[in-house]
Amino acid sequence: MASERLIIFDTTLRDGEQSPGFSMNTDEKLTLARQLAALGVDIIEAGFPIASDDDAHAVKLVAGEIRGPVVAALARCSPADIERAGESLKPAERARIHTFIATSDLHLERKLRITREQCLAALTAGVRQARGYTDDVEFSAEDATRTDMDFLCQVVETAIDAGATTVNLPDTVGYCTPEEIGEFFSAVRARVPNADRAVFSAHCHDDLGLAVANSLAAVQAGVRQVECTINGIGERAGNASLEELVMATRVRRDRLPYETTVRTAELFRTSQLLTTLTNEPVQANKAIVGRNAFAHEAGIHQDGVIKDRRTYEIMRPEDIGVESTLVLGKHSGRHAVKRRCEQLGFELSRYELDRVYRAVIELADRQKQIDDGDVAAIVERIRTEQDAAAPARPEAAAPTA
Ligand code: MN
Repeated sequence: MASERLIIFDTTLRDGEQSPGFSMNTDEKLTLARQLAALGVDIIEAGFPIASDDDAHAVKLVAGEIRGPVVAALARCSPADIERAGESLKPAERARIHTFIATSDLHLERKLRITREQCLAALTAGVRQARGYTDDVEFSAEDATRTDMDFLCQVVETAIDAGATTVNLPDTVGYCTPEEIGEFFSAVRARVPNADRAVFSAHCHDDLGLAVANSLAAVQAGVRQVECTINGIGERAGNASLEELVMATRVRRDRLPYETTVRTAELFRTSQLLTTLTNEPVQANKAIVGRNAFAHEAGIHQDGVIKDRRTYEIMRPEDIGVESTLVLGKHSGRHAVKRRCEQLGFELSRYELDRVYRAVIELADRQKQIDDGDVAAIVERIRTEQDAAAPARPEAAAPTA
């Protein structure tokens, strides 16, 4: 099956950065933008310039330095927003203005207090103004998945006519189910007469833990851009996680034949950099980048992985840039303890292995994780005790490394 290109739009620096605990200063944003470029994303949404002078400055610096990925800036469909975004993006090699307006009746009536007609007029003016700065204009219909379908189709057609080259239909509140969002995108693409003139995009939130599943369902319904973030950070429960989307298309190419330009060996490093910059840890069991994502502690699992990794691993840790995988703990088997000792340079006799193994399990009752230093200390202690108790045993070799 021939693969289709899937565009990766990273919004870690915008949707991610605006969530509590994840704010970054200009230097930090620039550092992360460099790593996103090394990771190979297609588009870096660098900020929302009208929000603050700092945001505008950061967008300008990212636009001035980053080469390769498109640099995008967010703007409401209002003249001042778009002007600010356009100015901030001036130094960019490739610039995208991402302009948005809410389209659901709930948002129009309660939040914006405008009519549907006013909404259409504002988005037409906004998209046209944005096209004055760049040919690459994305339009988003905020709360699209809760918008009346007839009106949404009108919105999309109007935006494309006004010059939008990408149309993003966000599940702003993370309310959709996968089957539903697939039907939603199929319906819009089938009903809007000029739909073939724009790339459709999904922006899914994780309020029900469905952001990645929904994004992939949208892709299967013809969407060719997904908006996502490193570690899945973002408003409330966050956005679709970039690393999960990318690895799903790698590991399940048979069902998801979509190519991205992401260098997966940079995924773990990017995740760690974000954690370091924001001081917000990733949950241990987070898919792909969590500390336990490739950790096998149960004895049967460790034994299996040592014999053939495919028994419990559907992807290789090195594919995402991770080195070590076996964590010693109280569920570890003798085999894993032996392997770890070998990695540390200790060749153990059967007798020594028995004693080291028991000591590891005992220690694991007292502390959750056992690191290399603990293992080395145990081996040394046992060898010292042994030497004191009896003359040198021929098979008790010294560390080889
Ligand atoms: Mn969002």
